[in-house]
Amino acid sequence: MNGYVVALDQGTTSSRAIVFDAKGVPVTIAQYPFPQIYPKPGWVEHDPMVILETQFRALAEAFEKSELSPTDIAGIGITNQRETTIVWDKNTGKPIYNAIVWQCRRTAPICDKLEAEGVGDYVRDRTGLLIDAYFSGTKIKWILDNVDGAREKAERGELLFGNVDSWLIWNLTGGKAHVSDYSNCSRTMLFDINELKWDKTLCNKLGIPMSMLPTPVPSSMVFGKVAPGITGLEMLAGIPVCGSVGDQAAALIGQGCIEKGQAKNTYGTGCFTLLNTGDQSVRSASGLVTSVAWSIGGKTTYALEGSVFNAGSSIQWLRDEIGLLGTSSECEALATSVPDNGGVYLVSAFTGLGAPHWDMYARGAIVGLTRGSTKAHIARAALEGIAYQVKDLLDAMEQDAGEPLSVLRVDGGASVNNFMMQFQSDILRKPIDRPKMVETTAFGAAFLAGLAAGVWNDVSDIADIRESDRVFTPQMFEGEAKALHEKWHRAVERAAKWEE
Ligand code: ADP
Repeated sequence: MNGYVVALDQGTTSSRAIVFDAKGVPVTIAQYPFPQIYPKPGWVEHDPMVILETQFRALAEAFEKSELSPTDIAGIGITNQRETTIVWDKNTGKPIYNAIVWQCRRTAPICDKLEAEGVGDYVRDRTGLLIDAYFSGTKIKWILDNVDGAREKAERGELLFGNVDSWLIWNLTGGKAHVSDYSNCSRTMLFDINELKWDKTLCNKLGIPMSMLPTPVPSSMVFGKVAPGITGLEMLAGIPVCGSVGDQAAALIGQGCIEKGQAKNTYGTGCFTLLNTGDQSVRSASGLVTSVAWSIGGKTTYALEGSVFNAGSSIQWLRDEIGLLGTSSECEALATSVPDNGGVYLVSAFTGLGAPHWDMYARGAIVGLTRGSTKAHIARAALEGIAYQVKDLLDAMEQDAGEPLSVLRVDGGASVNNFMMQFQSDILRKPIDRPKMVETTAFGAAFLAGLAAGVWNDVSDIADIRESDRVFTPQMFEGEAKALHEKWHRAVERAAKWEE
């Protein structure tokens, strides 16, 4: 049966491939980590050839382990670390520099200059973003400015730019397709998210020849086919490459958040929150960014996006720096060994606070301590502190969107914590839905590919595929939740502007 799809999940630390069946069940998985390159403080790079090699090896291995025949595979979908920037020579296929990773801060001075020139409002209007070194635009400029002969070559039309999605598709199709889906384009700071076109003014401003840029495409369509003669992938030649979406949006669709008002939060080291805002690109009043989430069959869906800088990392901190826990998972038993937080609040502003507080100078704080406070209260305060930050972020999103949040779907390593999920629901006053199948990001990409390949017929099919593991609903009295949340804000005030 031609009913399987393969997802390539090209992340920041590893390349993975997962074969899914038509019920959305992962059949086989292969994963290869790869090295991070830190040439200077604040700089982060990857070797694009190593990305390719690990990704292709994972694809070949997942396929082999599945014992399927190539004709069983209806298509391949891609999800990727976003913003990471690769520039390569169109003729040789070789990168002219390492991939500059999303975390890399080297282009902060270029961003400061753009800000000083007053480009911020224009960037916001067209791209939905804030000027930041995170996004690809200034990284491309850096490569053109700093690699010998790059600018001349780019102007002669000999160089191509791509995010990792684009790099993988170009290589998989033997150089035939130079494309990037709208969700990835949205993270370049060069893309007009309403017109769905590259923005000429921003390309000019950064000195980026438009001939380098991939063709913007919807997330679910046949971009090309696996080329013959790719070492290790010979047996997969001819399979359509037909889905592509950046990692966060992939998790949003993989969680089945296909309706306006549905949100997902990933509880990892930090939290990444996306709210589906339907066919409207909402402009945020609280410093959140707006991107295309996906575009299917001519229908474009937008999302508001925000993050909590330190979430699971506060549990790691209790474990590794303070020695209060042996393992992260011990946190739950310790936190529930006391009936409440005993008045203790932990604000994990280790690196400042993001939306909606936007305070780079805030620092972590534990407040409300009394002689009776125990380590259990601190563990509980750490977990509650994560939930409060997610609540603040989602409140801001609701306000921007002008519509209520209907449900929060959760994933990520820390979402296994039942106490934290229950508390999240109590504070948020909304249902929290945790799925059975946790590979939500990879499944998002597989689903988009499966839609283009005819494995599934309609976006709404995802509702039949996704199953909840557990739904948490508010148990705490509303007045109590409100009082706790207000006290949390007083704790945040104590942590605010500490370093100023
Ligand atoms: P990332 O992808 O960001 O590395 P993961 O999704 O793997 O993160 O999640 C790991 C994070 O979740 C760590 O910060 C860890 O401290 C936290 N974590 C893991 N298990 C639990 C738990 N049971 N309760 C709370 N936090 C947890």
